[in-house]
Amino acid sequence: MESQNNTSQNAPRPSNQRGKKPKVNFTWVYVVIACVLGYLFFKGGDAGSNANSKNVPYTEFKQYVQQGYANKIVASKDEGTVKMYVKPEHIRDVFLQGVDQTGKHPYVQAEIPSADKLDEFVTSQQELGNFTGELTYKRSNDTFMQIFWNLFPLLIIIAVWIFIMRGVGHGGGISSMGNIFNVGRSRAQLVEKGSENESKVTFKDVAGQASAKQEVQEIVEFLKNPKKFTDLGGKIPKGALLVGPPGTGKTLLAKAVAGEADVPFFSMSGSDFVEMFVGVGASRVRDLFRQAKEKSPCIIFIDEIDAVGRARSRNAMMGGNDERESTLNQLLTEMDGFGTNSGVIILAATNRADILDKALLRAGRFDRQIHVDLPDLNERKAVFKVHLRPIKVDEHLDVDLLARQTPGFSGADIANVCNEAALIAARHGKGSVGKEDFLAAVDRIVGGLEKKTKVMTEEEKRTIALHEAGHATISWNLQYANPLIKVTIVPRGRALGAAWYLPEERQITTREQMLDEMCATLGGRAAEELFTGHISSGAMNDLERVTKQAYGMIAYMGMSDRLPNLCYYNNDEYSWQRPYSEATAELIDQEVKRMIAEQYDRAKKLLMEKKEGHNALAELLVEREVIYAEDVEHIFGKRPWTSRTEELLGEDPLPTTKEENEASSEQTSAS
Ligand code: ADP
Ligand code: ZN
Repeated sequence: MESQNNTSQNAPRPSNQRGKKPKVNFTWVYVVIACVLGYLFFKGGDAGSNANSKNVPYTEFKQYVQQGYANKIVASKDEGTVKMYVKPEHIRDVFLQGVDQTGKHPYVQAEIPSADKLDEFVTSQQELGNFTGELTYKRSNDTFMQIFWNLFPLLIIIAVWIFIMRGVGHGGGISSMGNIFNVGRSRAQLVEKGSENESKVTFKDVAGQASAKQEVQEIVEFLKNPKKFTDLGGKIPKGALLVGPPGTGKTLLAKAVAGEADVPFFSMSGSDFVEMFVGVGASRVRDLFRQAKEKSPCIIFIDEIDAVGRARSRNAMMGGNDERESTLNQLLTEMDGFGTNSGVIILAATNRADILDKALLRAGRFDRQIHVDLPDLNERKAVFKVHLRPIKVDEHLDVDLLARQTPGFSGADIANVCNEAALIAARHGKGSVGKEDFLAAVDRIVGGLEKKTKVMTEEEKRTIALHEAGHATISWNLQYANPLIKVTIVPRGRALGAAWYLPEERQITTREQMLDEMCATLGGRAAEELFTGHISSGAMNDLERVTKQAYGMIAYMGMSDRLPNLCYYNNDEYSWQRPYSEATAELIDQEVKRMIAEQYDRAKKLLMEKKEGHNALAELLVEREVIYAEDVEHIFGKRPWTSRTEELLGEDPLPTTKEENEASSEQTSAS
């Protein structure tokens, strides 16, 4: 979902879509209709069973001629028929009707055994004086007409088809043929210097997102000064993927890259590629890249790339969505096709990188992923400052307070708040926008958002802080738990909060390490129980992980005292049989329960010991929303153990990998 207040996004699309609406050329429609009618008319006229004609057997035809009824005889060798026009005075004898019903020149038609026989017969009748006219033959121009009329519909279909294809294929040529003939053109919105929707967005307009900005900064450098990199033999990246929830400024960031580098910017949504016509998506991709190459260096931005980039179905038998897949294939081909240093860089946005096709993420395509997350407290303050710029605000307005009042809001939501506040103030006829207006706007937007995104109450925020602080406290105070990097209570994806750890680089894991980690994972629930007095749904993910881990340790790794050194791992996924007895199953269940209960008690005990520290940590989290290892160290003191990874990395461990340890907020359907 895109934000509502991104004005340039709502701007009219350029070139082919803007301006006067192209007319459908009706002449063609008329021609087609006329031809079809004509065809039907001619076909019908041949039938030979009208009121003024009659099909008869050959013998009857002979009788009529012998009785002297024939006025004129016309044979057609190709059709093998003969027509006998009846003398006016005998019309009633043949048709049993008057001239007014049959018309002036009625005829009877018969099939002839052969042309020679007919010739013979007519000549004999002429000699007998029964027939005074001539036998004439109708020649083959009739046949030609017949062939023509038979082929005509086909010709029309081919003509129309070629016509449409011309419109689809290259988008060139007939642009006045209406929208359906333009389906193959890319619908990209182009922002460039001097174009009417030029809006210079720079990094100044993107608040927060420091790490994302830093990463795209490099792309700006590439675009500005490609030689610097290519001279050293470096390859300019082709694409980067911006991953994050809607409204966090992915489009904005891409625009800012274009603005900073001062290059044209093509923007298109993934869903724009997909149309009900087969082949259109691929054609649009081709068109987009063709346009982009003309404007190089430039940036292509594809929003919601998951609309085309979703993983292709592995099973060809399942059918799958061929149109989407061929669009995706075309995209991949185009990305491989253009030279590395052609100066076209593709940025794509999605909020779900995990469902994308692996081929898209391969080297040389979108091999960089830039995370754009919901803003934390300080970032929200910065976003407010950006969007308060054009607003006449009350001088006593406390931006800090606004940021505090809007946990879980995205950049787009905040932009919305500012706009809404200005509207509310205007409605009340005020000279400037004050605190009450902002708070009213927040309320209104929270009301609207409640179902869509996670907006927390103070109470919830405290619970989440206690929960996350529980994880942090325990992992800090257990020797083998993963070292902590950062804890947040900013909602992210489906998680309400998260703690990031630096996983150890290790090939094997000992039982102690696993138990310590299990204890830390249970620390969230334990803290809730101890300090809020009730437990919440927020720990579901934790519990799921712990249960799986315990089951794995006992059934697969032989790590329990009562089932030592046994692995019941079943490699055959189609076998539904358990490789152990009912009694063992019960034993496994008991052991899993016991192991988890032990670790839970351990977590509770440790939390009680470190109660002050834990509560201080939770306070800090409520206040700042994000805390780092330093803050935790400040509270608990330095960890007496250094992990191997930390040793390897030296003093300042880089958060290269992050592991989420999160509290799922939603009850996933119990399937
Ligand atoms: P996305 O593409 O991630 O869905 P957009 O880039 O379309 O989000 O953001 C929508 C609007 O929200 C922007 O036009 C801008 O007004 C506002 N916005 C979002 N993030 C930020 C930010 N970090 N700083 C300033 N404004 C932001
Ligand atoms: Zn948790």
